[in-house]
Amino acid sequence: MNSVYASLGTTVFETMSRLAAEKGAVNLGQGFPEDGGPRDILEAAARATLDGPNQYPPMRGLPELRQAVAAHYRAHQQIDLDWQREVTITSGATEAIAAALLAFIEPGDEVVLFEPMYDAYLPMVLRAGGAPRIVRLHPPHWRLERGALAAAFSERTRVVVINTPHNPCASVMSADELALLAELCREHGAIVISDEVWEHVTFDGVRHVSMLEHLRERTLKIGSAGKMFSLTGWKVGFACGAPALTDQFAKAHQFLTFTTPPNLQRAVTYALGKDASYFDEMRAAFQRSRDRLVSALEGEGYVLLPAKGAYFVSIDLPASGIGMSDVAFAQHAIEHGVATIPLSGFYPNPDPPNLVRLCFAKRDDTLDRGAAALIKAKRSA
Ligand code: GLN
Repeated sequence: MNSVYASLGTTVFETMSRLAAEKGAVNLGQGFPEDGGPRDILEAAARATLDGPNQYPPMRGLPELRQAVAAHYRAHQQIDLDWQREVTITSGATEAIAAALLAFIEPGDEVVLFEPMYDAYLPMVLRAGGAPRIVRLHPPHWRLERGALAAAFSERTRVVVINTPHNPCASVMSADELALLAELCREHGAIVISDEVWEHVTFDGVRHVSMLEHLRERTLKIGSAGKMFSLTGWKVGFACGAPALTDQFAKAHQFLTFTTPPNLQRAVTYALGKDASYFDEMRAAFQRSRDRLVSALEGEGYVLLPAKGAYFVSIDLPASGIGMSDVAFAQHAIEHGVATIPLSGFYPNPDPPNLVRLCFAKRDDTLDRGAAALIKAKRSA
């Protein structure tokens, strides 16, 4: 059996959602919006299912969807993509990241990663034969610093995996940080796999900047319809980058999932045509939810880290006067009726800070019940 998987447990998201269901706890753990998703997009999917096509779509994705992806990024991020040569549709962003790693690295190539990191990255890098070089980011701002970043690069660096806006940090990389990374990648001939699935979920006027703007020829930008339209189970992703990257990427994609359900591709084509007001309203609604949860918790002495992007916010346990480890606190909180995500699982290296992540993409009453349970948990911690 392959040793990468033999030594792994089940992902913390699955585990916490199962525990929440078993214990009837409020689920502020796994990141998914509680509402069912926009009705018109669901109807578009239903129509596409009945009317077809439902046979294999083209391997790189339906032409209409690839055109819609290019048009979407042109309208929202002023990025010019050639839909025929630079866009591939995938079965979710996770598939896109896996295919990119398989396509871009040879065993022994170094891959720069940042911790904390989304839990899927490291096993995928290892399974693809990559040698990870991990740079630690530090709260509360989680900024890329030149010294630490430069030290992670070597003549064997082939790929850097970034995530902005960041899950679980809820930080958004600035143009300066992206420019610094671009400079080092140019120097070392490295490719960036840029996980930008939270690109439309930013707060307080912070805007997402794509790595494609800073390193056009060497970035594969990854997007997700599930995150854009609050339909996380759909697993429709987009991988966008220069033709040389896309051609190589598509070869890995064709033997991983080959295609993505055409009915969902059609519905996403429709959804991507939504104008700026849809995304503004989504951001405003998530921001209201963030503020509701944060103010309820701050009122009880919880200290939370800034949350500028993605629908997560983290509790700083020591600053909140809680002496437990993140895992112990998550267990304690679930006994008090609320599921959270301890962040130590996102740190491959020892001595992580003591943080737990909360998802605020929930209805008001769920947030209120979650906050009440967290307050009880704190009082008895
Ligand atoms: N992206 C989701 C989160 O961060 C989890 C996805 C999953 O469960 N694999 O919560």
